[in-house]
Amino acid sequence: MKKTKTYHITTFGCQMNEHDSETLAGMLAEKGYEESPERDEADVVIFNTCSVRDNADKRFFGTLGQLKKIKKSRDLTLCVCGCMMQQQHIIDDIKKKFPWVDVIFGTHNIHQFPQLLDSALEEKKRVINVWEDGGEIVEGLPAKRLYKHKAFVNIMYGCNNFCTYCIVPYTRGRERSRKPEDILREVKCLVADGVREVTLLGQNVNSYRGDENTDFSDLIYMLNEVEGLERIRFMTSHPKDLSDKLIQAYVDCEKLCKYIHLPVQCGSSRVLKEMNRKYTREDYLELIRKLRAAVPEITISTDIIVGFPGETEEEFEETLSLVAEVEYDSAFTFLYSIRKGTPAEKYPDQIPEEVKHERFNRLVDLVNEISAKKNAAYVGRVEKVLVEGYSKNTATAYSGRTDGFKLINFEGSEDLVGKIVNVRVTAGKTFSLEGEIVSE
Ligand code: SF4
Repeated sequence: MKKTKTYHITTFGCQMNEHDSETLAGMLAEKGYEESPERDEADVVIFNTCSVRDNADKRFFGTLGQLKKIKKSRDLTLCVCGCMMQQQHIIDDIKKKFPWVDVIFGTHNIHQFPQLLDSALEEKKRVINVWEDGGEIVEGLPAKRLYKHKAFVNIMYGCNNFCTYCIVPYTRGRERSRKPEDILREVKCLVADGVREVTLLGQNVNSYRGDENTDFSDLIYMLNEVEGLERIRFMTSHPKDLSDKLIQAYVDCEKLCKYIHLPVQCGSSRVLKEMNRKYTREDYLELIRKLRAAVPEITISTDIIVGFPGETEEEFEETLSLVAEVEYDSAFTFLYSIRKGTPAEKYPDQIPEEVKHERFNRLVDLVNEISAKKNAAYVGRVEKVLVEGYSKNTATAYSGRTDGFKLINFEGSEDLVGKIVNVRVTAGKTFSLEGEIVSE
């Protein structure tokens, strides 16, 4: 009997990459491939890379090196894609140091993957095809979703903002928005397939422009009308594009979850200018004030970079004071690391590693202290939770997300997966809540 071919995908980085991996998996499923839980047993191994963080680069190259031995011992097609492949020096490195890689493609031509794989298999030679920029948006690609009840939906691609530390505008190209009718069609199909919650994805979703009549808030209002859809989230938004109209959408659209991830990056207006973020500390705090005035229960998370070139101790303390003032529910904190090809690479006054680490630890302590305090305040509240499945922490518990995107663990049963249930919070920890299902 002919053995079914298998694949394994390793994904680094953000939700955009996770969703691209779902598309790759969908295309392979259409070709008759099955997913292999073990990378070392798969016929096709794919690495979907990220170039935003330094440690993801290192892990990727390390694993690529280890695969040489496996590649020698059996038939294996090794494919690499994602943001790193949009940089010529990375492709040159792979060609020189990792000649056992079979297929290299980029973020703009994911749809070509089945043909590229076929050429590599038929011609038994390495295939490299990376587009410099995105052409027309390709609609209708399949996806093998990670979850049955929630789905990612790309609404736009690329970024025009050129923050001076970020490589994304160079790897994902300029902003291109999908047409509202294509997004609506996809969301309706997902709902018909059992999806209850969609997360609208883009590097900067609130600069979405589907057509002259549809900006991001219009899209939210439109999706709020989709029957059967219960929750709408989005990721990521830029403070400079957070309009009053979008804040009003939180008030008017009951399906829009009362949660926002609003990256601040730094609390010092001078550093924000150097980062080319296009807002000041005061602008950002004013947005938070407006959001909380309109939606008092909103939960807020952020991204913060520590140790941007030239950041002084006083400027770092401005970040600490902003964090203390906003009281984020959670924050993703990062050590600044040089990204080759970005303006900040050339900035003088790179901060010594030990200083960065010391500041980072102080920031994390503060962020965690606030998260724990905020979560403790949830005790006794009843939250609507979309049940996602087994908790990763204990075998008996189930977990899900509250409307405000807080992770909560509780005793449950398999039939609840995919349903929205009421859970009373019994304990608040730093990174999650504990609770019990109630019938009200
Ligand atoms: S908004 Fe800034 S940080 Fe975000 S993807 Fe664009 S350039 Fe990068």
